[in-house]
Amino acid sequence: MLVDSHAHIDTSRFNADREAVINAAFEGGVTRIVDPGCDLASSEHALALAKAHPGAVFAGVGTHPHDASTYTDEVGMRYRELAQAPEVVAIGEFGLDYFRMLSPRDVQRAVFCAHLELARDCALPCIIHVRDSHDDVIELLRAHGKGLRGVFHCFSGDVQQAEECLTFDGFMLSFAGPLTRQGNALPEVARMAPLERILVETDSPYLVPQPLRARRNEPLFVKHVAEKLAEIRGMTFEEIAQVTSANAVRLFGLGEITR
Ligand SMILES: [Zn+2]
Repeated sequence: MLVDSHAHIDTSRFNADREAVINAAFEGGVTRIVDPGCDLASSEHALALAKAHPGAVFAGVGTHPHDASTYTDEVGMRYRELAQAPEVVAIGEFGLDYFRMLSPRDVQRAVFCAHLELARDCALPCIIHVRDSHDDVIELLRAHGKGLRGVFHCFSGDVQQAEECLTFDGFMLSFAGPLTRQGNALPEVARMAPLERILVETDSPYLVPQPLRARRNEPLFVKHVAEKLAEIRGMTFEEIAQVTSANAVRLFGLGEITR
């Protein structure tokens, strides 16, 4: 049993074979998938997929920092409405991305704060994207994130940054394909993070784990991230699968959908 805590299965790269990809994941031992929206349209699509796979696919609603310029108060109102659905389990993904900087920094910061407010109003956890923006994310969370819960998705920082992230009690660190690659601090981070605060994800269709040669990542491949994590922590695959699944279920409230 595994939970892929972050997979964009709503994106067009799965248009040709989406149901086959979802079924392959379930047949391969993935029990649940969280699909975070990146803008209003993808949030709506993620929710539709969640409704079509009750209890197995869940949705987040939010605007990715790349698309922060498309966020308006009306979009925020729409997210509030969508978040009423029991299949919506998170606000996100949102965050700050100063690497690609596809939206201006001040716009990204304002939209980040608007999402924190959404998470508070909807009583949902946050799925946060951080890229070359650690200090600003920490600053804004300290100022506006009191009492919120969530995950730093596809964590990519060093041990000191991980320690800062973990000062926010309700937050977890999520590991993706980069954990399987050489030349980063992630194994060290994965060793020090408390067991009850780690998740695994694919970030499909991006970040294919090594040594896979696939050009597109998919939820089934989350097992490679879990295998690497088990190796690093000196645990069995089953133990890591059990712990990270329980963490995801607890954070996002991934129960059965009852109507
Ligand atoms: Zn993502």
